[in-house]
Amino acid sequence: MPDLAGKVALVTGASSGIGEATAREFAKEWARVALFARREDRLEAVADRIRREGGQVMVCAGDVTDPGAVQAAVQNILAQWKRLDLLVNNAGQGMAAPFEAVTAQELRDLVEVNLVGVLIATQAVLPMMLQQASGHIFNISSVAGRRGIPFRSAYSATKFALVGLTECLRQELQGTGVHVSLVYPIYTETEFHDVQLKKVEPLRHGPVQSAEQVAKAIVRCARRPRPEVYPYPPARILAVLSALAPGLVDWMMARLLRR
Ligand code: NDP
Repeated sequence: MPDLAGKVALVTGASSGIGEATAREFAKEWARVALFARREDRLEAVADRIRREGGQVMVCAGDVTDPGAVQAAVQNILAQWKRLDLLVNNAGQGMAAPFEAVTAQELRDLVEVNLVGVLIATQAVLPMMLQQASGHIFNISSVAGRRGIPFRSAYSATKFALVGLTECLRQELQGTGVHVSLVYPIYTETEFHDVQLKKVEPLRHGPVQSAEQVAKAIVRCARRPRPEVYPYPPARILAVLSALAPGLVDWMMARLLRR
């Protein structure tokens, strides 16, 4: 019997990309999945696919920045499935812009989705997880949450913030049975790059991964909890090097991105 069979997962940003792939991977492990995002038609399409693959699924349309919508989703899940084991805080947006071109309102909007949304969803599920004395929360940061790159200042700030939030929470929750893990995807082929707010053509160079690779890494961590997940393992080297020798990494990045 797979470890995740019968567990209940809430995945935010499940209408596309990494969230959709993660929901499908959990369902393949016989976990029951609740899909949360704003586009209900897209969620229904993902849900149909999961049902055709034999999975159990529920659609919860809403905005992660709306505490009422998130709370309602959690209440629906508990009413139907009586428990909540996994939360994937994945809903997020990107921004590529020179720092001076980012307005305060744009920064606030990004922080609302990428950071406050995580806070709202985490606070909505924690009471149940603490009551169950078991649970696992995944916060989807980015390799840009370990190492900033040019024109990603606002986005990186939100993803670095998730690292701080998660590290604190992980220690606060020690001994409660609730795990909290950070996930650091590299460039992943999803709609993210088309829908992000773009005021400059983003610089890009380096490896690419699929949403399915990220999803499979999350599922592995759900089976065997760890503090951090690097779906593309060499990215960890960048994170370590950046902490030890930031000036050197600035220099390397400048050379790499100029190519
Ligand atoms: P997608 O654009 O494919 O998916 C983003 C998801 O977030 C969509 O389902 C979208 O659904 C949802 N979403 C956005 N805003 C809200 C909101 N306010 N409320 C509810 N849901 C929302 O991108 P990815 O799958 O690539 O991104 C997923 C996560 O991975 C993000 O946090 C991103 O920062 C991170 N990441 C992505 C990388 C990449 O290269 N793609 C690299 C590193 C990290 P809807 O519009 O229906 O609400």
